[in-house]
Amino acid sequence: MCQIKDKCLDGVCRNFIFGKCKKTSCKWQHPTAKELFKKFKSNGAINEPVMKCNKLPFCIWSITGKCNKGTNCIFKHVNATELVAWLKAYKCLTIDI
Ligand SMILES: [Zn+2]
Ligand SMILES: [Zn+2]
Repeated sequence: MCQIKDKCLDGVCRNFIFGKCKKTSCKWQHPTAKELFKKFKSNGAINEPVMKCNKLPFCIWSITGKCNKGTNCIFKHVNATELVAWLKAYKCLTIDI
């Protein structure tokens, strides 16, 4: 399990994650919620048991990759910033970012 925040966010723009990067051509990655979730999952940064205990206020399939309803989806599709804010608020991350 990854305990090193630098590894979990390798190559990702931190300012973007916190909604502060205004650059149009940033040298760091600006991931979608789906890409970020995948990254966290592969690094063990997501505490899945905790995540499953909380009722998700958004479309889980949009971040796990199975929702193809797009704007017709009745659940909210979050961006990377909203995803991280939620994960942090509900203590679903095993890393401190
Ligand atoms: Zn950026
Ligand atoms: Zn959806």
